[in-house]
Amino acid sequence: MPTLKSRDPANDEVIGEVPVASVTDVRDAVAAAKAAQPAWAAQGAEERAKRMLRFRDLLLAQRDEVARLITRESGKPLIESHMVDILSTLETAKHLGRHGVEELRPRKVRLHNVLLYDRRSTVHRRPLGVVAVIAPWNYPLALASTGVLTALFAGNAVVFKPSTETPLVGKWIVDALRESGVPEDVVSCVQGDGATVGNALVESPDTDGVLFTGSVPVGRKVASGCASRFKPNILELGGKDPMVVLPKARFDLTVAGALWGAFTNAGQTCAAVERLYVPRAQEEAYVKALAEKAAGLRLGHGLEKGTQMGPVINDRAVETVLGQIKDAERKGATVEAGGHIRDDLGPRFIEPTILSGVDHTMTCMTEETFGPHLPIMAYDTLDEAVALANDSEFGLSASVWGPTREAEAVAARIQAGTVTVNDCLYTYAAPETPWGGWKHSGIGASHGRWGLEDVTHWQHIGTSPAGRARSPWYYPYDETLESFIDAGLRFLHGGAAGAASGPRAIWEWKKRL
Ligand code: NAD
Repeated sequence: MPTLKSRDPANDEVIGEVPVASVTDVRDAVAAAKAAQPAWAAQGAEERAKRMLRFRDLLLAQRDEVARLITRESGKPLIESHMVDILSTLETAKHLGRHGVEELRPRKVRLHNVLLYDRRSTVHRRPLGVVAVIAPWNYPLALASTGVLTALFAGNAVVFKPSTETPLVGKWIVDALRESGVPEDVVSCVQGDGATVGNALVESPDTDGVLFTGSVPVGRKVASGCASRFKPNILELGGKDPMVVLPKARFDLTVAGALWGAFTNAGQTCAAVERLYVPRAQEEAYVKALAEKAAGLRLGHGLEKGTQMGPVINDRAVETVLGQIKDAERKGATVEAGGHIRDDLGPRFIEPTILSGVDHTMTCMTEETFGPHLPIMAYDTLDEAVALANDSEFGLSASVWGPTREAEAVAARIQAGTVTVNDCLYTYAAPETPWGGWKHSGIGASHGRWGLEDVTHWQHIGTSPAGRARSPWYYPYDETLESFIDAGLRFLHGGAAGAASGPRAIWEWKKRL
């Protein structure tokens, strides 16, 4: 049986291996999930909530081992594995366990039309069925678990495909869920490359929805694979997130936020700060401070104590980052810090890089980088800053820094699914809030009640009492119906003048009962 080797991106050491699924294996996993899903859904949300909390307990107990695995497979500093992957997964599991039942609760709808006075309307959430969750590598626990847990909690069965870069974390998630009491066929893991295994999940006639997190080009393929079957798909895609600094922003806070937002996980965060816009009068100060601080970040293996930034994930990522830096330099930008590979550490350790003198003709300002460089651009007016921030095909998240009220007003003008004021990135770890992008950054949401809504169908049950009189609009279409409708329309929508036709409407109605 072919296997997939998991390698440490810092040194190419083999960490472990997993069997690769064939297209037949995918078909079998989906068929088993389809058979098992109705019983899982029938258990009810309260039962499923208990499994979520058990998963949380298990993750907390095994956090050191899991964090090390995340760091070894993805390269990030160990502290980031704990602080982002583990913490946000614990938060998601807790949120579903404690609040999910309420969020999935059927909602009664009040009907305003008096003709429907005796009707009851309730909107329920029903699971889609079998949901394929396809995940990226950059937060291999958090991003995958959010999708898998949300879909499972809503009563779906899940067939999960982790990234080929992080198969062992993917395997851990499914093993842990099974240990937490989720039946084996309800959650399964199929490992292998996207074009074969991922595509088989998307194209399967028996998957009822796809929750995809990854790049825009692959997202496009997933969307078109789903389109012919009208299969619901949630797409959490790339970003090119702007950070807009207002003239009265607190300098030290803003510099610290930009540095972390740009370089955490070596910039390989969908919502990383990828463009920094500062007032022209303060450009020099920001460039100088950020160049100094970026040069001071400590690079190393993620498991080494004190490491602040690890390698990028693979050689393709190195090419993209260096290619954007070269493109910017060729078009007149200046590398203020970094810009090179740290050969002493390995071929994938890129120095945290600060670029100045950039503009929107450069790929570093228009294409997703997903790596450690931060271009800084000056603006003259607030309108210009907003226009620059919005001048992008992406719309995942953004941040505005400055006096709270003023910054919130600017935030409202930014085209992005999430805009944070005086901080960046943190909302992924707030599962009560929606997460998802505008424009090419995706469709749908993956958190909180918005996430639950997207992995369920809504079903409206409209109930009329069994012993009710016949509805007045039933056949025959005769003169009484005409006068009833005419009086009714005027009564319902004619304001004070129309109210006078109320008695006639009631009279005509009674005649038809
Ligand atoms: P990717 O698109 O290369 O791969 C994502 C997943 O899709 C992997 O599991 C891959 O094997 C699979 N895949 C590849 N081809 C496929 C196909 N034809 N059909 C089905 N599945 C296929 O992305 P990546 O390099 O793993 O992750 C980085 C990207 O993900 C970046 O663009 C980043 O911005 C984005 N991302 C977005 C979010 C978000 O929440 N919006 C979060 C994390 C990462």
